[in-house]
Amino acid sequence: MTEIVYDRDADLSIIQGKKVAVIGYGSQGHAHALNLRDSGVEVVVGLQEGSKSRPKAEEAGFTVKTPAEAAAWGDVIVVLAPDQVQRHVYRDDIAPNLEAGNALVFGHGFNIRFGYIEAPEGIDVVLVAPKGPGHTVRREFEAGRGVPVIVAVEEDASGSAWALAWSYSKGIGGLRAGGIKTTFTEETETDLFGEQAVLCGGTSQLIQYGFETLTEAGYQPQIAYFEVLHELKLIVDLIWEGGLAKQRWSVSDTAEYGDYVSGPRVITPDVKENMKAVLADIQSGAFAKRFIDDQDAGAPEFKALRKKGEEHPIEATGQELRALFAWKQQDSDYVDGSA
Ligand code: NAD
Ligand code: MG
Ligand code: MG
Ligand code: MG
Ligand code: MG
Repeated sequence: MTEIVYDRDADLSIIQGKKVAVIGYGSQGHAHALNLRDSGVEVVVGLQEGSKSRPKAEEAGFTVKTPAEAAAWGDVIVVLAPDQVQRHVYRDDIAPNLEAGNALVFGHGFNIRFGYIEAPEGIDVVLVAPKGPGHTVRREFEAGRGVPVIVAVEEDASGSAWALAWSYSKGIGGLRAGGIKTTFTEETETDLFGEQAVLCGGTSQLIQYGFETLTEAGYQPQIAYFEVLHELKLIVDLIWEGGLAKQRWSVSDTAEYGDYVSGPRVITPDVKENMKAVLADIQSGAFAKRFIDDQDAGAPEFKALRKKGEEHPIEATGQELRALFAWKQQDSDYVDGSA
C-alpha cells in the first residue's frame, strides 16, 4: 500500500520558521500564499513591476517585492510563475539571489524534469503539487479541508528537505486530505498525460464532438449543451465520490447498458494507441520542446489554437444558457465569455 502522509505526520513549525517568497500570484500562487499566511507563515509575494497580479496581492495585504528582491529576502523560494516563464525568472532573478541553505519549491516538475532549470549545489529542490486547480486549493482550505498533494525531493542538500516539503504541504492544507511521495519525473509525466489525454484535451474534444454530432443532426444547441456538457459535472461528481461503479449504480439501467455497448464504439482501442503516442511525446521531451519553442516565438500556435477553441459554437450557446440559469456560480476572477 502507498503510504499516505497526513497533518499528524508533519511539523508545521519548520515552515513557520522560514521566510517564504512566493514568486507569482496566479492560480496556484495566490492559494499557496494565502493558505501559508493563514497557517502562521511569513510570506512575501514576488512580482514584476506593472504585473496585473500586483494589485490583487496588495489588496490581500501582502508585501510585494520584485522577484529578485523576494528571492533575496526568502529562505524558501516558491516558483509559481507560468511554466514557460520559470526558466527566465530563475536565471535573471532567483539564481543570482540564492544562498546555501535556501530551498526551491515547485508546484509542477516541468522545468526540472526537462532540464530548463538546474539548481546549484547546496540548495534543496522540492515539489509540492496539489492535485487540483489553485482556486480549489484556496476554497477547500477556507472550508477546513484540503486538496491532496504529491510531493518529491530532487535535491536534499540540507538533509531535511523531506521534512520541509511535508511541513510546506501541511501549511497549504494539502495534508488535511493526504500526501503521497512521488518523483519530479513521475509527477511531470503523469500530470502532462492526464491533462492532455483525459482531463483537458480528451474531455474537451469529446464534448465538442458530442455537441457537433447532435447539432448537425438538427437538435437544438441548448438541449445539446445540457446533454454533453452541463450534465458532465453531475456524472463526474458521482465518479469522484465512488468511482465508475457509483456512477453506473446511480444512472438508469438504460444509461448503464448504453455505457457498456456504446462507450467502446466511441472510444475505440486505437484511441489507447493514440494515448500511448501522446505519452511517448511527453517522455521524450518533444511536447515540452514544442510548447517552449512556440512560447519563445511569441506563442503563435498557442494563440491560434486558443482563438479557435473560443470560436466553437458551444461557447456562445453556453454563455447564453449560463446567464439564464440559477446554477451559475462565480468563485474566481474568471469573467464568463472573456477567456
Ligand atoms: P498562472 O498563469 O495562473 O499565474 C502565474 C503568475 O505568475 C501570475 O501572477 C503572473 O503575473 C506571474 N508572473 C508571470 N511572469 C512572471 C515573472 N516574470 N516573474 C514573476 N511572476 C510572474 O499560473 P498557474 O496556473 O498558477 O501555474 C503556476 C505553476 O503551478 C505552474 O508550474 C503550474 O504547472 C503549476 N500548477 C498549476 C495548477 C493550476 O491550478 N493552475 C495546478 C497544479 C500545478
Ligand atoms: Mg490557465
Ligand atoms: Mg498540469
Ligand atoms: Mg440524459
Ligand atoms: Mg443503475
